[in-house]
Amino acid sequence: MVNESKIVIVGGVPGVGKTTVINLVLELAKAEKMKILTIIFGSVMMEIASELFNIQDRDKLRKLPSDKQKIIQKEAAIRITERSWHKMTIVDTHYTIKTRTGKYLQGIPSWVSNALKPKLLVIIETNPEDISKRRDVDDSRLRDEENIDLLKEHQEVNRTSAITICQKTGALLAIIKNKQGQADEAGASLFRYLKSI
Ligand code: ATP
Ligand code: MG
Repeated sequence: MVNESKIVIVGGVPGVGKTTVINLVLELAKAEKMKILTIIFGSVMMEIASELFNIQDRDKLRKLPSDKQKIIQKEAAIRITERSWHKMTIVDTHYTIKTRTGKYLQGIPSWVSNALKPKLLVIIETNPEDISKRRDVDDSRLRDEENIDLLKEHQEVNRTSAITICQKTGALLAIIKNKQGQADEAGASLFRYLKSI
């Protein structure tokens, strides 16, 4: 069956710079009059969390019991599929989410990947030391503290998660390094990948 979707999933640990890199891609796309829709998975989940569980704070979402998070995830996947229909769409998300007990919850379990049918998965990565510094500097968000070993582990778990999604969906995989002070380069790489799908 032909995959008609033009969905690109962009994931990586919190604070690695996904939203920064995606915003740079949007500028590049604008300059070339190319239309790209961006959907932040967490924002769609927030809409649903607010409707169903009266949650108003995005950083409280990942602390909800995992059964509730799964209900929200499922509905978010349906809404995103509807909104992205036949549009080139970047979904800004997380391959895994650290729960309050330290366990990893899958950000894109099969009921999400089956709905989205992504063409390409992108992992944004960098070294754990820089991620830790970015989390410290960015006051706009309340991100968890993860030490260097745990950040390393989280990035390894994300790779495994992304590869599993590719196995199931046939999506291609790209890994982009968002080096310190070089978000422009990461943005240019992501834009090149988008143009080639
Ligand atoms: P979340 O998953 O929590 O939404 P994110 O991956 O989208 O996080 P951003 O909000 O894009 O992360 O970036 C986190 C912080 O890191 C911001 O303060 C941003 O300016 C900074 N940052 C992003 N990329 C770089 C880079 N290449 N060099 C230095 N700082 C960066
Ligand atoms: Mg972000």
